[in-house]
Amino acid sequence: MNMELNHTHDANTRSWLESANAPGTDFPIQNLPFGVFRRKGSSEAFRGGVAIGDQVIDLAAIAQAGAVSGPAAQAVNACTGDALNDFLALGPTAWRALRHALFDLLKTGASGPGMNALRASLVPQAEVEHRVPTRIGDYTDFYTSIHHARNVGRVMRPDDPLTPNFQWLPIAYHGRASSVVISGTPFHRPMGQAMPPGAAAPVYGACKRLDYELEMGFYVGPGNAMGEPIPMAQAEQHIFGMCLLNDWSARDHQFWEMAPLGPFLGKNFCTTVSPWIVTLEALAPYRVPFSHPADEPQPLAYLDSPANAERGGVDVQLEVRLEAREHRERGIAPDRLSATSFRHQYWTIAQMLTQHTVGGCNLQPGDLLGTGTISGPTQAEAGAIVELSVGGTKDVPLPGIGSQRRFLEDGDTVILRGWCEKPGAARIGFGESRGEVLPAVG
Ligand code: CA
Repeated sequence: MNMELNHTHDANTRSWLESANAPGTDFPIQNLPFGVFRRKGSSEAFRGGVAIGDQVIDLAAIAQAGAVSGPAAQAVNACTGDALNDFLALGPTAWRALRHALFDLLKTGASGPGMNALRASLVPQAEVEHRVPTRIGDYTDFYTSIHHARNVGRVMRPDDPLTPNFQWLPIAYHGRASSVVISGTPFHRPMGQAMPPGAAAPVYGACKRLDYELEMGFYVGPGNAMGEPIPMAQAEQHIFGMCLLNDWSARDHQFWEMAPLGPFLGKNFCTTVSPWIVTLEALAPYRVPFSHPADEPQPLAYLDSPANAERGGVDVQLEVRLEAREHRERGIAPDRLSATSFRHQYWTIAQMLTQHTVGGCNLQPGDLLGTGTISGPTQAEAGAIVELSVGGTKDVPLPGIGSQRRFLEDGDTVILRGWCEKPGAARIGFGESRGEVLPAVG
């Protein structure tokens, strides 16, 4: 149902709000992503919002004005608080009702009290601040790019880069929800323990190999009871939508601490998400077939479904840019480090969600699942600097300022962007995820 096309995907539909029709906008009428916002620097309560053009629709104002009716009214009433968990718990029928009601009020020719209330609710995006859009009970990070796994594996285990489980199941670790922050939040370079090459004993200090990871995240809608797994056929009914996610990583700490129990301090100091959640319904035009190469293991039956094979992938274009202090001081645009697409992942979001629950684990509305680093098939498509610099042995050029990096320096801001575009469909975007590295404290 999330994959079906309907009139809200029609690329020819325009809005009476001119900024929603601007070429290249991330937020045309066909997108309508959800987030949580308030006016910047105000003491207003955070509440739900939907991005349209350069504006935000205030969903609390829409609810108060009674601008939508029926199932859409029930849905919008669940968007008035400072987190979207109640709305996500309602499921796809409610999500669709609200999307379609807002679409009808926004399209060219709309009129009446509902349209007037929506117009009155608009707040310029330039004047708002966001918070993480749900109260995240649990955060899990997968590891689903075979190119990333091979690139990093070669650095860590040159003789055996790909672990044997990788091609049989979407592997993951349970992450830390408390340090998931909204785009724009700076963080301090983490302290920790590392084992320098050739040293006899580990050292404690500031991370020397700080990295980013280009990922997407997806938010859980209705949950499942403990002991009741979600089968592949129903997996996407439990996924609300997707965002950009940066899994900041302290490689020196991570590589020393990770065996045998997995990532800990190397990953738990900060994870950045973008403000807007692009719904699976908005992504429907960009679904693509999923398959494993014929000479590689095929998914076991419980991780397979006809819909997943037909349209389980999502073609999201992604890029990473680095803005150093010098870029800002000299007014130079950030340098692009890499670009790729989410379509190259070895496992789909449905397979990740099903795998998470197959042992009986219960997911809850608003939980966040990361896809793992998204690296494409070529070196130029690598989603982390440890891959671009081949484990810190090669310079990654920053041509805009005539400099280079092997890992991140203090003052560096990493910017992730994502968008979908193809002939015959409206271009939709994810906005951005941005975070700046501050000096270590300690
Ligand atoms: Ca990761």
